[in-house]
Amino acid sequence: MKRIAVLRCLKSSSRCSGAGCLKILFNKDKVYSKYKEEDIQLAAFWTCNGCDDISLGDEEGLRRKIASMERSSVDVVHLSHCVFKKNTDGSEEVCPQVRAIVSELEKIGVRVEKGF
Ligand code: SF4
Repeated sequence: MKRIAVLRCLKSSSRCSGAGCLKILFNKDKVYSKYKEEDIQLAAFWTCNGCDDISLGDEEGLRRKIASMERSSVDVVHLSHCVFKKNTDGSEEVCPQVRAIVSELEKIGVRVEKGF
């Protein structure tokens, strides 16, 4: 049994229910073949704390959420597509704030995967 979490973009969550992530996650026969042979448990479904004009401005709260991944024995945090930002050349990379979250997660030994 793998305990997994999904990290999303706070801004995107204003217009996205997360249904797409969950559909991919639990569709073992098609897209989500990674866990085909293994049971998964959704342990957390969380967002960053935002940026610019849409920010919760709660650094302590964010630290708690990061720490809770370890406390909740999450095996892997998957980054939702919404945390990737498009560059002018069309390539995509994880937004800088989420990169900082990823770095903190890796420091405490929580594995992170881009996408599903
Ligand atoms: S920090 Fe990145 S992932 Fe979070 S709201 Fe801003 S753009 Fe979205």
